[in-house]
Amino acid sequence: MTAKLRSEMIIDTHAHLDYSDFDLDRLEILKRAEEAGVTRIISIGTNAVTSSNAVKLAQEHPSVWATVGIHPTEVDEALESDYEILRKLVGERKVAGVGEIGFDYHHLPGKELTPDEAAPLIAQNKVRQEYWFRKQLDLAAEHQFNVVIHQREAWEDTLRVMREYQGKVRGVYHCFGGSYEQAMEVIAMGNLISFTGIITFKNAKQVQETAQRISADHFMVETDCPYLAPVPHRGKRCEPFHTRLVAEKLAELRSVSLDEIARSTSKVAESFFRF
Ligand SMILES: [Zn+2]
Ligand SMILES: [Zn+2]
Repeated sequence: MTAKLRSEMIIDTHAHLDYSDFDLDRLEILKRAEEAGVTRIISIGTNAVTSSNAVKLAQEHPSVWATVGIHPTEVDEALESDYEILRKLVGERKVAGVGEIGFDYHHLPGKELTPDEAAPLIAQNKVRQEYWFRKQLDLAAEHQFNVVIHQREAWEDTLRVMREYQGKVRGVYHCFGGSYEQAMEVIAMGNLISFTGIITFKNAKQVQETAQRISADHFMVETDCPYLAPVPHRGKRCEPFHTRLVAEKLAELRSVSLDEIARSTSKVAESFFRF
């Protein structure tokens, strides 16, 4: 199917391997990833249950690692006891970081209500998002982990909080879709970005330009599977082997070899996550 990589292997730094989309063929998926040179996969937690599942998968499969965290769209359901679960999980074997955490102002509550009715719910939800974001940044700092940041339509608030943690916790702005200037803004604060299959989309000119201009020391690759399958699988279920297609697109955009992308992104991932 694919030519063998000469030296380095590719790391899918953001997958939701525990999701039920993969229940029927998880072992085949891991095998396909390995065959495509995607030899390490980080399964990302989004709440207490998925975080526990990610850790379990990581402990069962040599090529899998986990992060643990509560996603901003999960904060209305999150309990203080979930935080205690996270606290325990961060000490487990094969946990590589904390996440995904951050702000999501795209998926806010009250969509079915009038703006006046929704306003207090939205305000309350935003307060909860910030509460959980900070709580988990503190947890990461305490355990010397870096964090996976989910940011959607909340750029200013995310940077406002992250500025306070500068020098204590580094973050990867995952599924990066912004401009080169935005990338440089977070990189200047000691953070990284990572690219998904979005960079293969026709309408992704801005992020493709970012991918061309950014230094190789500042980005990683990911799938965010089961979402965001790259071309030519767009719209279908995404899976970790697609990281190779993301890496191939980066090689094309930057006029370098696939091996070079594999080497640089793996090096960045190794210095950012705890493997
Ligand atoms: Zn995300
Ligand atoms: Zn995700």
